Amino acid sequence: MSEQHELTGSRRDIWWDTYSDRADNLRESEVRSLFSVVSRPEVVSLAGGMPNIKDLPLDRLAASASELIAKHGMQALQYGAGRGWDPLREQICEIMSLEGIKADYENVVITTGSQQAVDLMTQIFVNPGDVILCEAPSYLGSLGIFGAYQAEVVHVEMDHEGLLPDELEDTIKRVRSQGGNIKFLYTIPNFHNPAGVTQSMERRQAIVDICRRERILILEDNPYGLLGFHGQTMPALQSLNPEGVVYLGSFSKMFAPGFRIGWALAPHAIRDKLIMANESVVLSPSMMGQMMIHTYLRDFDWLGQVTTYRSMYHERAKAMLDSLEQYLPACEWTVPDGGFYTWVKLPAGLDAKDMLPRAVTEMVAYVSGTAFYANERGRDHLRLSYCFPPPEEIREGVRRLSRVVNKEIEL
Ligand code: PMP
Repeated sequence: MSEQHELTGSRRDIWWDTYSDRADNLRESEVRSLFSVVSRPEVVSLAGGMPNIKDLPLDRLAASASELIAKHGMQALQYGAGRGWDPLREQICEIMSLEGIKADYENVVITTGSQQAVDLMTQIFVNPGDVILCEAPSYLGSLGIFGAYQAEVVHVEMDHEGLLPDELEDTIKRVRSQGGNIKFLYTIPNFHNPAGVTQSMERRQAIVDICRRERILILEDNPYGLLGFHGQTMPALQSLNPEGVVYLGSFSKMFAPGFRIGWALAPHAIRDKLIMANESVVLSPSMMGQMMIHTYLRDFDWLGQVTTYRSMYHERAKAMLDSLEQYLPACEWTVPDGGFYTWVKLPAGLDAKDMLPRAVTEMVAYVSGTAFYANERGRDHLRLSYCFPPPEEIREGVRRLSRVVNKEIEL
């Protein structure tokens, strides 16, 4: 038990010696600790990954919610099944077919956001000390879960086409030769958070082949898959090996995160475990949320909305990439084809974590690369999000960031 708990927060914590070892591994995320600062209106935040839902038809959604309660309130306001509501599970199969997935709705488990699906997967597979392979870098929200379950995260290098198959093979060998017990590979194949890159088709096949051969389960996390700037979609890893992949999807980015509805598609036996775990944690996912989303998919032009999102994010990505070119030529960055993020490499010697307070003084915020590793790596990188601020604010944010970077270079 660390002394950290005693010191946590502004008040003394008299229960500091009572927490579980698991709670000891719960850390405030670097993004959350920035929240109070970056929500000040004068700060341009290129930090958060909040979807921009400004174009949703709120009046029509309000009417739809009202009608849902008036007509089906007894069901919408009641508990439901732990596996999720069947009509929505069926619609989810249609959505996944856009990525080449042929799914039986019985294998879909609806969760409270895909975040909870990552948690359930970790709960049912990971004992303390087990190894989870993750890209280098990886999504900070999942790293937080893996840490809380006391997993050992081992990062695997990637490049502009995603995870490197050779590195994956070498890492598997190395971990196993050291006695490590690999439970799954966690990967974000499309519009990676934070790296902004997408796995090529060749890479997908190679990764699936290696994992099949080495008998390693893949956890494919795909909340951004439909947000390709040109409407392009890639075949899911799940479609290449349905028995070897658990696929996670979410309505957070293609519709709205407030319903907190995501899902897992899993092989039969894993699906049963996921349902039991889901029931034990939340009893059932929100019926109101599921029924609202069902109605939205049925009655609204949801794919049209996705197209609107794509072009909005594309415009913002262009604003960010153009201003990086203009203001920060000393840096390197990835060029995303969709999603919310670009991953920026600072000039040699600069430290993104140390620089952050100075950036906030200049009224711009980002997330230090260190948030996306389970070890102390990442100081040479930062994640910039272009999803939320309008293009002119993005430009201003990058201009402010360039002032900070240039001052650091001069130091
Ligand atoms: N995975 C990734 C890669 C994400 O970026 C996010 C949200 N930022 C999630 C999972 C969680 O999404 P949700 O719980 O809203 O479905």
